[in-house]
Amino acid sequence: MSPLPPVSGASALARSVDHAFAEGGALARTLPMFEPREGQRAMANEVATVLHDGGVLLAEAGTGTGKTLAYLVPAILGRKRVLVSTGTKNLQEQIYFKDLPVLRDALGVPFTATYMKGRANYLCLHRFEQRRADGDVNVEGLATWVGRTETGDRAEIEDLPEESALWASVSATAETCLGGECPRYHECFVTRMRQRAAESDLVIVNHHLLCADAAVRESSYGEVIPECHDAIIDEAHQLEDVATQYFGTLVSNYRLEELVRDTGRVVERAVNDEGGRYRREIDRVDERARAFFGAVALARRSRGPVGDERLRIAGAWFGEIAGAGVSLLTALDGLEATLALASSAAGHPGVDAESHEEVAAVAARTGAIRDDLRFLMSAEDAGFVYFVETRGRGVFLRAAPIDVSRIVRERLLSRMHATVLTSATLSVEGSFDYVRQRLGVTRAGEIRVPSEFDYRRQAILYLPRRMPLPKAPHYAEAAAAEVVGIVRRTRGRAFVLFTSHSAMRTVHALAGPAIPYPLLLQGTAPRSALLTEFRVRPNAVLFATSSFWQGVDVVGEQLSCVIIDKLPFASPGDPITAARVEAIVAAGGDAFHEYQVPLAVLTLLQGVGRLLRHRTDRGALAILDPRLKTMAYGRRFLESLPPAPVTHDLAAIERFFAVDVD
Ligand code: SF4
Repeated sequence: MSPLPPVSGASALARSVDHAFAEGGALARTLPMFEPREGQRAMANEVATVLHDGGVLLAEAGTGTGKTLAYLVPAILGRKRVLVSTGTKNLQEQIYFKDLPVLRDALGVPFTATYMKGRANYLCLHRFEQRRADGDVNVEGLATWVGRTETGDRAEIEDLPEESALWASVSATAETCLGGECPRYHECFVTRMRQRAAESDLVIVNHHLLCADAAVRESSYGEVIPECHDAIIDEAHQLEDVATQYFGTLVSNYRLEELVRDTGRVVERAVNDEGGRYRREIDRVDERARAFFGAVALARRSRGPVGDERLRIAGAWFGEIAGAGVSLLTALDGLEATLALASSAAGHPGVDAESHEEVAAVAARTGAIRDDLRFLMSAEDAGFVYFVETRGRGVFLRAAPIDVSRIVRERLLSRMHATVLTSATLSVEGSFDYVRQRLGVTRAGEIRVPSEFDYRRQAILYLPRRMPLPKAPHYAEAAAAEVVGIVRRTRGRAFVLFTSHSAMRTVHALAGPAIPYPLLLQGTAPRSALLTEFRVRPNAVLFATSSFWQGVDVVGEQLSCVIIDKLPFASPGDPITAARVEAIVAAGGDAFHEYQVPLAVLTLLQGVGRLLRHRTDRGALAILDPRLKTMAYGRRFLESLPPAPVTHDLAAIERFFAVDVD
């Protein structure tokens, strides 16, 4: 089906949007819980205007305003193809499986939509068949599903572990894709998804796919999102982080291992390797890659205990890994040259004609890894910060752009006719300056729609009077005592959110024995299992860190309290944070006030936003960090918080829950 014809003129669109949200309008007639909300209607009108006229709109819509409908309705009624990108998979699913079917009924306008995930979620038919042809019995377990699936989406396979080596060997990643040269190109699940999306009115993606796609868009293949001229980017406060991840460079031991494995298979199948020259080149890369990542891991270990944190590499680091790095570069050079020669029909008659493309693809992949490694080892680009991460067996050498504002502007915003950047938390102290600067937004319209919730009635903010400063040695003991005091008064039903894993574990160990309710601890079960358990276990108390600060929705009294241990400043030891701070200082700015405080305010507001998810919800919010009151910058946090009455008295929490507001 082709996209719907455009509505004629801005005023026609504004009228239909107005009508949809009006009392007795299309939404009120169809959605049983719908109530006309002025803020929602105002935002929908602004979105309609920018989609029609072009430009950028910054739209902050507080909790309960119905933000998603406020942009989906004008997107549908505008009858153009619109790209919708979300920060989380949860919101992506909610839009596709819940909101769009409802709007299809309510608006009476036919439209099509495609839900797109990242390439690695889909099966690569070509790789799968090659594995089978190689006699790899592991992939046989997938054969029945492959014969049956319409989408090739791994989500259809029950019990497939998150980190499955089997899946990694058959997934449709950009790095392993042959593009138009692939013999299965037309049946390919990614190709078909792209075709469906190209014929859809709404294309629903997430920021990871959006940025991954924009990062490879200049190459001949790899891009999956079809051309869209209008975009709505929800949860836009996450965009800087995701862009930082995708517009950087990464070389890992896994990437090298996959290259060695895949190249070995291609050579075995397609190349006449008499004399063993190819095998020797591959083995050389394998050995040197092991030596190189061994050296990186050793250098990392010599700089302190190996945890999740990233460590910046500079100076002596490079001295320690340079020799092994140069050896690996030389081996990659040799392998690439040999493969490139083999892939040319004239150059190497030992390669069977049909396999030239495959050999060319592994040659190109070898060259790309060599170039990335060279970029990382030279560490010359002052626009990047270079660092190492180790996770389990994985050793990751990365470079991340220090400032993504130009990248976001050039690769995303300026390619669009219209862009809406929206979130529940986008402004700091009522201003969009911070997000404008971080995302490279110059000219833009603005709208702020306050939360629909009545924080004065629905919430209470508890700030303890006598907490030590977070650096004090007995901070954890004092925090644990407060947590016990609070959750006893709220009868559990609480999220206790921490800024670090170690603080979470310490306070959990100290407070746990004194809490007479079920305790849940992040890390003891998958995130979704913990959330399900929290929802069904009466009076549960969940101890968690950053992944629960955002995108978690527990409606109702099961979540009646959110306790935050410290103001969530990004760790100054983190290489990206440190490099951003240095860059701002070098440019004559005040990094603390211009960057660290606003970023922490937005993070805090995300955590606070977990408390009230419905207009009948009530709850207590507690922030244990005394800097909120003792430091001058604390005022900026307090002024950005929703207007809940403040108390320093634990008994007030008890009284708050004793009052029957209905
Ligand atoms: S086009 Fe790419 S992803 Fe699709 S089957 Fe071929 S190699 Fe795999």
